[in-house]
Formats: sequence, C-alpha cells, structure tokens
Amino acid sequence: MTERTRFDLSTADVPTAWFNIMPDLASVTTPLPPLHPGTLQPVTPDLLAPIFPEALIKQEMSTEQWIDIPGPVIDIYRLWRPTPLQRATRLEQALSTPAHIYFKYEGTSPAGSHKPNTAVAQAYYNKEAGVRRLATETGAGQWGSALAMACRFFDLDCLVYMVRASYDQKPYRRIFMETFGAKVIPSPSETTQAGGTVLEQHPDSTGSLGIAISEAIEVGAGSADTNYSIGSCLAHVLLHQTVIGLEAQKQMELAEERPDVVIGCVGGGSNFAGLAYAFMAGKLRGETPDMRFLATEPAACPTLTKGRFAYDFGDTAKLTPLLPMYTLGHDFVPAPVHAGGLRYHGDASSLSLLVRDGYMEAAAYTQNEVFEAAVLFAHTEGIVPAPESAHAIRGAMNEAVAAREAGEERVILLGLSGHGNFDMQAYDDYLNGRLPEVEFDPADEETALASLPEVPIGA
Ligand SMILES: *Cc1c(COP(=O)(O)O)cnc(C)c1O
Repeated sequence: MTERTRFDLSTADVPTAWFNIMPDLASVTTPLPPLHPGTLQPVTPDLLAPIFPEALIKQEMSTEQWIDIPGPVIDIYRLWRPTPLQRATRLEQALSTPAHIYFKYEGTSPAGSHKPNTAVAQAYYNKEAGVRRLATETGAGQWGSALAMACRFFDLDCLVYMVRASYDQKPYRRIFMETFGAKVIPSPSETTQAGGTVLEQHPDSTGSLGIAISEAIEVGAGSADTNYSIGSCLAHVLLHQTVIGLEAQKQMELAEERPDVVIGCVGGGSNFAGLAYAFMAGKLRGETPDMRFLATEPAACPTLTKGRFAYDFGDTAKLTPLLPMYTLGHDFVPAPVHAGGLRYHGDASSLSLLVRDGYMEAAAYTQNEVFEAAVLFAHTEGIVPAPESAHAIRGAMNEAVAAREAGEERVILLGLSGHGNFDMQAYDDYLNGRLPEVEFDPADEETALASLPEVPIGA
C-alpha cells in the first residue's frame, strides 16, 4: 500500500477553546508588560478601551490556560475548519530526503490564509460590544480580506488602510475586500493626521505597515462608533490562531508521528505562534525538550535575526504602547519585497522572548531562495504558496537536506499559512529573473535603531 498522506479531521474536531501560552511562558521566564510611553508604567486596560472591546483586552492580558471559543465563532470556523494536514511525500522524493515533511495548510480558508481565525473572533467581540465599524491596516491584503469577510458576517462596516505599494500592485486583493463591502484607502492618505504628515515629507511614499497602523488607530481612537482591529503581533491575535496547532496535534497523532522540528514564517508572529505554541508548551514543561522550533523571515526585514530586543512602538506615529520585542526600529521601512505580510519592523512579545531565551531559532532568506522553494513546492505538491509561507517551505527544505546529509529520519512540521493565487505578479517577476536580492542594509540598521526609545529592558 502506498503511504498515507492526508490526515483529515471532521467538523466535530474544531477546537472549542483557544490555548494560552502565558502560564507556561511565565514558568520559564518573566514576561514583560507593555508600557505606557509617557509614564513607563505597565499598560492598564483603560488605555486600550478606546480602540478594543473589553473581551479582547481581557484576552490580551489573560493568564488563563484555556479560553472558550464562543459558539457563533465556532459555527463560522466550521465553514473551512479543520484545515488539512498533509505529508509532502512528493517533495520528500524530489529532495531524496529520509525526512518526513508534514504541512498544515491554512490556505483553504475563504480569504486564503490563516487570518480569518482571528478576524472572525475580533468581529464577533466588537459586534457584541455594540461597535458599528472596524478600522484596520493591511499590507499584502490578506488581513484586510479576512477582516472584510468577518465584518460582513457580523454586519459591521470595515475601513481598510492598504499600504500604497500593495494597493498599486495588487488590485485583485482590493477588489476582494470591496466585494465584501469594505472601504479601502491607500496609505499614507490625507484622511488622517498620521498619513498627512508622512505625505508632507515624502509625497511619493509607498507606505509601510507601521504607517498604515498609525492611520487606522487614529480613526479607531477618534470616533466613538469605530474600533481598531489588528491582524498580528498582539497576544489576543496569537491566541485566536492556536486553533491551527491544536488541530495539528490531533492530526500528527493520526499520523503516529511527533515533530522533531516545527517551522513557520514570521511577520508579526501570529500564524507561527498559532501552529507552534501547543507544541511549545511541551518543550517549556520539559516533556519534549528536544523538539526544535524555527522562525523564518525575509533577509530584507530580518527582525529576529538582525533586530534588537527592546521596548519599541508598534507603529510609525508612536500611537501604540511600548512593546517588548525584537525590532528593527519603528521608523524602519523595509524594501518592497513581495512577501508583504512579513514586512513589519517588530514581532510579538511572547515569540520574541522565546527567541531571546533560546527556545526558538530564527533564520532569514533572500527572495530568490524563497521563490525557488515555492516553485519546487508547487511542482511537487500542486499548491502555489503565498510568498510569506514560502519562507517556511525554504526552512523546511533546508532541514530536509540537512537530514539527508546526516542520514536522519527527521520529522518536519511546517506551517503553510496561505496560498499565493493573488501573488502572480511576484511569481512572474521570479520566473523572469526580475527579483532583486534585497538584503538588509547595515546603514539602515543604524538609522532605524537610532529611533528606539531609551527604555531599559530586563535581561
Ligand atoms: C499576514 C501573513 C503572514 C504574516 O503574519 P503573521 O502574523 O506572522 O502570521 C504570513 N503568511 C500569510 C499568508 C499572511 O497572510
């Protein structure tokens, strides 16, 4: 009999609670609180109340291990969850590796990525709190697409600030959002002070996630009927994504294997945390001390591999609290590489702590390394991956080759966060040799890191 490659669950297996890593993290290190930039005191719930509903603020600060998923959210998850977990035997053969490569595929969601897992939850809690409209930012358009859909499901208006570079390059993502009734504005824009200030200095600015976040927060904080919604980085977002790893744990049990290494791509950290944290708990508890975790990122925006662990703002206009994280500086504007979802200067606090303390490794790859892996994945497994997800594939392929060289039957679990069906321009550029090998410029590093606030951080 040929080897089994699919490990499907039924809709009855959709998780009914999210998994919170904080109790386990607190058992191995001291979690650092976000700080008020003026007083440098830990942020209190009232500071966040103008932009987030109470339920999400509670989750942001929760130390409970499990948090129940509301019924209406589970009902919507069941439209596409559980997502597939497959073994990539054809990729293994192409690499002549004894490694077993499994991938957990989030591209089967309606928006094509993992992002609806949190968008639906956030829209639900805002609706419950009586909010009428959500404002947000989007880079590549994946997050905006997910939130546009979620807002439609809960009858909320949706306002999306889309990074100008993507707005111009990716009209189909914009139209996808508009199909669900969202209003999409290219960022920087004249509709906000934050955007206006940038345009005054740089009229041709192609924008960045940091700028778009400033615009969306300004709107969310400035109008009573509007809240702000964020697609990554914060603890409540990572929490909602843990459905990925909880399903993957069951599916790996069906496969009767245990991952030796779990790999994902990191923009702000949500899809990788979502996949990894249920497994990471075992490592932090000393049950699976040898299990490895590898976070992958673009060489053009190498937050974890070249950034500094420091308190920094999450946005360009310094509207957010100070967050303890690996950062390239809130003024850093990464080169416009095609993995738009990975072009963010910072990363989630919990994930940053895990990297700092050696529980998680990190690696950065250039665009051509990443697309080479993406195309081999398409040729063998038939899925054209999102450029973001292709970073994880690159990491997995490197592990599989290392396993071959070491003659080891390593079990690799990789997070395939989305499909690349809206990213054809990127593939066209790669196939025609037009992808520049943009690396991080150490000169940029100095200027960007110079913008870091001087706030001491515990070691
Ligand atoms: C947004 C996005 C990412 C990066 O965001 P994380 O919060 O780090 O997961 C990765 N992959 C895809 C497909 C995305 O849309």
